[in-house]
Amino acid sequence: MANVVLERLSKTYAGGHAAVREVSLDVQDQEFVVLVGPSGCGKTTTLRMIAGLEEISAGEIKINGRVVNHIAPKDRDIAMVFQNYALYPHMTVYKNMAFGLELRQGVGWPRRIWRRLTDRGWSGKWRLQREEIQNRVRQTAAMLGIERLLARFPRELSGGERQRVALGRAIVRQPQAFLFDEPLSNLDARLRVDMRRELKRLHQQLKITVIYVTHDQVEALTLGDRIVVMNEGRVQQVGRPMEVYDKPSNLFVAGFLGAPPMNLMSGRLEKRDGGCVFSGSGVRVEGVGGGFSGFSELPRDVVLGVRPENVAIRPLGGLAEKRGESSGVKPVAAKILSVENLGDAMLVHVSPAAMENQKSVGESRPLVCRTHERASWVAGQAVQLEIQEKNIHWFDETTGRRLMFDS
Ligand code: ATP
Repeated sequence: MANVVLERLSKTYAGGHAAVREVSLDVQDQEFVVLVGPSGCGKTTTLRMIAGLEEISAGEIKINGRVVNHIAPKDRDIAMVFQNYALYPHMTVYKNMAFGLELRQGVGWPRRIWRRLTDRGWSGKWRLQREEIQNRVRQTAAMLGIERLLARFPRELSGGERQRVALGRAIVRQPQAFLFDEPLSNLDARLRVDMRRELKRLHQQLKITVIYVTHDQVEALTLGDRIVVMNEGRVQQVGRPMEVYDKPSNLFVAGFLGAPPMNLMSGRLEKRDGGCVFSGSGVRVEGVGGGFSGFSELPRDVVLGVRPENVAIRPLGGLAEKRGESSGVKPVAAKILSVENLGDAMLVHVSPAAMENQKSVGESRPLVCRTHERASWVAGQAVQLEIQEKNIHWFDETTGRRLMFDS
């Protein structure tokens, strides 16, 4: 298996569009790394450069320490699985899976052509190779549960079955690394969940190195040992999924990961009565900064971020007796705008109502709370919101970078 290193990898297309800008990444042997980001951020271009399907404008790609910038795709010993499966329509499933091996080892019809050209007879060596290919295809088909499909043609398969065949075709080759380009996006929601589990299992079983591209954050968070969040051709953050979710390094990552995304409010953070006050976006949050060590930098323009699942919502007055056991952040009064029932939880959209008439805290921006409390929330209801200090994320409003004065 392989270790794949990208060093300041860049791609500028004809016309001057910089699709990938100085991407550096070290994918360890047997690691499952997911490139995730919005459409057009350069994920596929990065993957295609690794596969050798796209020319590199600058930078270096190393596989197991060898620079492969100018090595042909077939000699990189990498298998790529595409979103559209790219199966050969006129070949059976068996043939689709065996074809790449036959080409490499010179058996099957490529071998027959070669034999006709060279007029050399059948030998035990070729028979052995054919048997080896048959065994590998059958073992892989068994592992993927597609043995019964081996005689069918791609048009006779469902989307999920086709995807398994495409996977099988990559696996039988036993390449050094696997590249996946949105392999599950043509499947329905249920099948995607099944295939996600299957991919995870295969990764553990085969101990393979995987670089996987998706725009789906759930896929990224569930599959990746590490995820690489990209935007506008640049890497925004690399880390373990929960590390990136819990400590996004900038506003882009904070707003990209999470559904619904993190509530982000622009405002000013200043010292007040031994603590700090945040005011902006229609909210005044008092008592923040209990653990701050960076007071010297205040006042400053910041963005306060809090995930919907970290905003506790209670009927008005329901928090007072609980405040003693919570953090020093004072509850924020709000009014419900609308409620969405998700089955296992509710999304409650609120407006920080009490601040509506205070010009100093700016224009009110709705917040989203995700709650499991099955209270009968209704639009117009007055509520209180409680946020724990440890769940507040601070970002510099100008640079968008995470502020590290969290204790
Ligand atoms: P998606 O999730 O939509 O596939 P992506 O993150 O994979 O997006 P890329 O396909 O890598 O994005 O494209 C990155 C940028 O490069 C986009 O702005 C795209 O329009 C541009 N691009 C891609 N291929 C070419 C090309 N052959 N010529 C010019 N520009 C291109």
